[in-house]
Amino acid sequence: MDLPRFTYHPDPIATGSVVAADTPCVCCGESRGYVYAGPVYAEEEYGHEICPWCIADGSAHERLGVIFSDEEGVGGGGEWDEVGEDIIDEIAQRTPGFNGWQQEQWWTHCGHQAVFAALRVPFYRMPLHRLGLIEPVWVVAHVAEGLLYFEDVEAGFEIGAPGDDGALPARGCNQFELTHILHRLAHAGLSRQR
Ligand SMILES: [Zn+2]
Repeated sequence: MDLPRFTYHPDPIATGSVVAADTPCVCCGESRGYVYAGPVYAEEEYGHEICPWCIADGSAHERLGVIFSDEEGVGGGGEWDEVGEDIIDEIAQRTPGFNGWQQEQWWTHCGHQAVFAALRVPFYRMPLHRLGLIEPVWVVAHVAEGLLYFEDVEAGFEIGAPGDDGALPARGCNQFELTHILHRLAHAGLSRQR
């Protein structure tokens, strides 16, 4: 069964926010093979018992009064560019949140969300050299400088171009947060368009 599409969280299985489980959904009562495993902001406590479909169609938000990202965090609590209410609603009410990542704020700054939307690809695995080993990382977008990837050891984003052997080169521990990369790309993209 295909998961619903989430514009602002393209592959919630890759990020660990949706996991395979037969648990019946507390909202629709159906056992649909996947449940949400990310953060839930609500009066009551919910474990891994909300299905992604009830997130996508807004029924979990409506019936349970839950949101999945801190609304204050969308747009950096007002520190960043103003974001439309509709986008905040979609992210908070109808998009799976992120576990562990400090990424609740990554969508809005300087048109990041539009930049990411334009560049992202369906996440896929790619080998990376690390300490003499080859390990997989997640490629999330294709950018001018190469591939933008997330690697879960350092839990950070990097840009790299694959070498002759088809693997990404080793990098130091200087992982970027996605906001920094998107900030750079946003400005590079804008200057290219002019
Ligand atoms: Zn459901």
